[in-house]
Amino acid sequence: MIAGRSLAQWKSDFPLIDDLSRYKEVNWQNERIMNTADALEDLELTKADVHDAEARLKRFEPYIETVFPETAASAGEIESPLTEMAEMKSALKELYGTPIDGELYVKADNQLAISGSIKARGGIYEVLNHAEKLALEAGMITEDDNYKKFDSKAFKAYFSQFSVVCGSTGNLGLSIGIMSTVLGFNVTIHMSSDARQWKKDMLRSKGADVVEHSEDYSKAVAEGRNGSLRDPKSHFVDDENSKTLFLGYAVAAFRLKRQLEASGITVDETHPLNVYLPCGVGGGPGGIAFGLKVVFGDDVNCYFAEPTHAPCMFLGMMTDYHDALSVGDFGIDNKTAADGLAVGRASGFVGRLLREMISGAYTVSDETLFKLLALIYDRENIKLEPSALAGLPGPLLTENKKGTHIAWSTGGDMVPDEVWQEYYDIGKKMMT
Ligand SMILES: *Cc1c(COP(=O)(O)O)cnc(C)c1O
Repeated sequence: MIAGRSLAQWKSDFPLIDDLSRYKEVNWQNERIMNTADALEDLELTKADVHDAEARLKRFEPYIETVFPETAASAGEIESPLTEMAEMKSALKELYGTPIDGELYVKADNQLAISGSIKARGGIYEVLNHAEKLALEAGMITEDDNYKKFDSKAFKAYFSQFSVVCGSTGNLGLSIGIMSTVLGFNVTIHMSSDARQWKKDMLRSKGADVVEHSEDYSKAVAEGRNGSLRDPKSHFVDDENSKTLFLGYAVAAFRLKRQLEASGITVDETHPLNVYLPCGVGGGPGGIAFGLKVVFGDDVNCYFAEPTHAPCMFLGMMTDYHDALSVGDFGIDNKTAADGLAVGRASGFVGRLLREMISGAYTVSDETLFKLLALIYDRENIKLEPSALAGLPGPLLTENKKGTHIAWSTGGDMVPDEVWQEYYDIGKKMMT
């Protein structure tokens, strides 16, 4: 029995489960999607919460600019470009034999400053939020101060009595690790032992303590959480349930709106925005989707993209069982080269919050991810990690609506060249 039903019953209630368990690329359309204003009513998070997160990031900009000089051009704002992909659009047409109706853009979070992935949104925001809270409580700052003050011996000495802990398959650990060590916190990152070696090495080189676990990721998170909760001076970053992390991601929507306006791209009922978000546990893509629904309402369609071997959010939302089910319950092995998306059990909080707002979800094979990784380099000269490609075929794997298509490219810049070259060679081989 699986959550009270037999396997045969599950497959008869949800025929797509059979396809998922055979690792097919499939598409789920959410029939319970509602008009956005109604869906947003009475939720535990609101537009005001996203504005609050945006204002907090704004307060930290002078500090970020000081400690990460690579953000000087944007005055300490950590944001990625929106880039049209005309070449890739025609490459996708060749690959799939179907044209994309509308323009194709990439939102290049692979280029985000500090940690080169989507986690530079939520992860860094959560650490800053925690630092601000501690500094306010200690009377070391007021919200009107210049936050450059955080870059001082006194602040670092104060934060050195506290620790930040998280469980991570990789990129979240990088963001939390880098931001926390720079502020002066002690940092412990719990990782699964099969996480990429270069990520562990990089974190250790920044001064973070990396603890490796041979059991699966959920177990690593549970152990990290338990250890941290016993210690009042320790803050646990909860990838599955953190509203703070979620709101840090959501701020992207306000920024994207400004970018679209600056590029003269209209978004309205007849020119919808279609956004394809690579999804792991759900916080990153969920936070961004929530922000987008707050900003664009019914004019935006958001889709979650997952590997065929780790379709946890697809499964959770389609069945409405959310975190009560894991992909392993259906024999799905959670083994994928898309390490940022290798999650077997989705965030229940994210799935429930967005149940009436997401347009759908689809799965992509590792083979497709590798091919697209090679293709986007050949055609557009950009280097992505496998997870970051999942959004790209979205217009062809969903209903292929008209309007503007944005594939969120979630990571890549931190990947060492030799590791990226291995990915490229695999993709190249598959293309021939
Ligand atoms: C973490 C991550 C995602 C997905 O974010 P979740 O919050 O886990 O859903 C997508 N792509 C990359 C590269 C990531 O690191």
